[in-house]
This record gives sequence, C-alpha cells and structure tokens, in this order.
Amino acid sequence: MKRRRVLFVDHAAVLGGAELSLLDLATAYRDTSEVLLFADGPFRERLEAAQVKVKVIPAPQSILAVKTSGGLSAVKALPALWWMARQIAAAGREFDLVHANSQKAFIAAAIATLMGGRPVVWHLRDIVTAQHFSSVNRAIAVFLANHRVSQVLVNSRATGEAFIAAGGRKDLVTLVYNGIGSDPFDNLASDQSAQIRDQLGIGDAPLVGVFSRLSYWKGQHILLEALQELPNVHALLVGKALFGEAEYASRLEAMAAAPELAGRVHMLGFRNDVPALMSAGNIVVHTSTEPEPFGRVIVEGQLAKRPVVAAAAGGAVELIQDGVTGHLVPPGDSVALAKVIGNLLSDPIAADRLAERGYIHAKDTFSLESLLTAFDQALNKV
Ligand code: UDP
Repeated sequence: MKRRRVLFVDHAAVLGGAELSLLDLATAYRDTSEVLLFADGPFRERLEAAQVKVKVIPAPQSILAVKTSGGLSAVKALPALWWMARQIAAAGREFDLVHANSQKAFIAAAIATLMGGRPVVWHLRDIVTAQHFSSVNRAIAVFLANHRVSQVLVNSRATGEAFIAAGGRKDLVTLVYNGIGSDPFDNLASDQSAQIRDQLGIGDAPLVGVFSRLSYWKGQHILLEALQELPNVHALLVGKALFGEAEYASRLEAMAAAPELAGRVHMLGFRNDVPALMSAGNIVVHTSTEPEPFGRVIVEGQLAKRPVVAAAAGGAVELIQDGVTGHLVPPGDSVALAKVIGNLLSDPIAADRLAERGYIHAKDTFSLESLLTAFDQALNKV
C-alpha cells in the first residue's frame, strides 16, 4: 500500500511521549513524508537516525514560551503564530496533508488552512480540561478544531471524551491508540538487568521504577512518599524535567536526601535504555496525579513483563484491567500505592502472573502494527 504524503509538524526539540509516538509514525511514513520541527534538539537527531527527512525552522521564542495553561498572554504570540502558519502553508505544498502532533503545531496548522494550507489532521494527545488548559486556550483550540480541521485523532477514549465535553465535534474524532514496538523489550541481552543493578550498587534489593519526565503532575513524589512505608525498597526515577520544571526536580532531590530515604532513591535523568531499566526493577509504577491521556510507560512496563501499578484516571484505566493485567490505585494516594507495592513484593508468583497477562494484553492490543493500521485508515479518509 502506498502511504499518503504527510507533513508531520511538532514544535518540540526534546523527547516527550508525543514525540516518541511521532517517531514511530514518521519512520513508517519516511518514504513519502517529512517532519517539520520548530526547534532543534535530540528529537531531530532521533528522527534523522531513523532516516526520516526533517526540516527545522526555528520558531520565535514568544511561541515556544506560551503555556497551554496560560491565559491571554498567548495573544502576544499571535504575530509569531501567523508567521509559523505561513511556514506550514508553504512547506505543506508538496504533501497531501498536514499532521499536527502538538498543540502549538495544531494552532499554527489550523491557521495555515486560511492561507491555502493543506488539510489538517490534529493528533490530540492531551486531555483538554481546565487542569491543563486555560479557558481561553481551550476555547480557541476547540473552535479551530471544529472549523479548520479534517480529523481529530485521539490517543484514548478519555482524550476523545474530554475534547467532546469541551465542545469539540464528535464526528471529527477517531480513536487511534498508541502502539509500542515490543522488539526492544523482547531482545534484551540476558545480563543487562544485572549490569544495571551492579551500577546502582543495590544487590538484590527490591526496586520500583517510575519512567516519566519530572513534573509535578507526573507525581514522582507520590512514590517517594510511599517509600517511607516500605523500609527496604529502592526507587528508580528515570526522566528529567523537560518543559521547565527544574524546581520540582530540586524538590524531589531534597525529598530523596531525607534520612529515611537516603541511599534508596536513584535519579538517573533522561535515558534512552528504558526497556533495560524497566527489566532491572521488580515493579513499574505510574504515579500521575491528574488524568493521563494515554500513558506509554504503562504499556512499556507490561511489555517489560513487570507488574504495573498505575494511577486510575484518564487513559490509564483503558490500558489496565485492575487485578488482571496490572493494578490501579487512586491518583495521589501514596498509602494505597505502598500497600499494592508491598503485596506484590511479598507474593512474587502472583506478581509474575499479573506481569505475564499484562504482557499478552499489551502485545495484542497496543502493538505498532495495530497503531499503523488505524493510522493509515484514518489518513486515507482525508
Ligand atoms: N522516556 C524515555 N526516557 C526517559 C523517561 C521517559 O525515553 O528518561 C519515555 C518513556 O519510555 C515513554 C515516554 O518517554 O515512552 C513518556 O510517554 P508517556 O505517554 O508515559 O508520557 P508523556 O511524556 O507523553 O506525558
């Protein structure tokens, strides 16, 4: 099958979950398509390493500084957004359609349709609620989506429902679950976990990992609070503050240095070897305090054959059947989290059974192949 010619657009330079998901899509589409980025950095390097054509047009700082949760301050970025829209309209000429992978890319791509730009597909990977979006930004995004976009692809039912609840048109929405390739998890060298444990110097101590950028709502502090009830357990925090949340990273460092946790918290920063790191631990936890749009790390934990404990909100509840393919705990509840971790560590046979069922579920439901089938079908309708 010949794939559509797509101009993928994203504003980010760094590798968040949205960018890692786009990496897989753009790799599959690299013979016909191209990625346009508005900032240079590790994302461009990863795309080029996968032989994807990339064009970087550095955006004015006023756009990169806008926060979706900010109010009317976004108005200041209007001239820059207009400029960005022009770039998208011009760059899109050789393609059948524009795929907007981030909020800022979507707003600019939608405006570009007023300048003769190609049809836009918005890949919505955020829960559009007051927690993350100011009412002004929500209204603008929904208005542009309803009037200027051909389709809104949503990465979970929760993401789609939030869009519709915010006034988005239901007929625009297509569910395209993320898919994660299992090869990096299935093909790990047998001694890789032991090497990581050696580097951490933790011997056989129980190890529980969180694999998310450091950000208050990702809730790494909830695991550190839970650790206070779990005297011998070590925590692995993998990820760094990607979008200007250095203060939260310092807060976590201070928590980790407290006497009751000292030596038990291992903060590794951003890593490219998440599959090996997950396999080195006993349990993968997801601690978001607010609804997670999808939660790639949950599926990755399942593919790593580790029991996964996730915060029960948003897309996470679509990925885990509680007690069958993982465990769900109330978001922000460190006591409940400590209890589930303690139970899993004390019953390794039950933990293995949970992990095995999670693995089968993730492989069946969230494969890269299923993602691409759904994505191809959606784009062929534009
Ligand atoms: N990740 C990574 N290195 C890190 C921390 C996280 O590669 O140090 C990856 C993680 O494996 C996952 C993605 O970043 O694929 C995070 O995606 P998720 O959907 O969980 O959260 P998002 O960043 O989209 O909010």
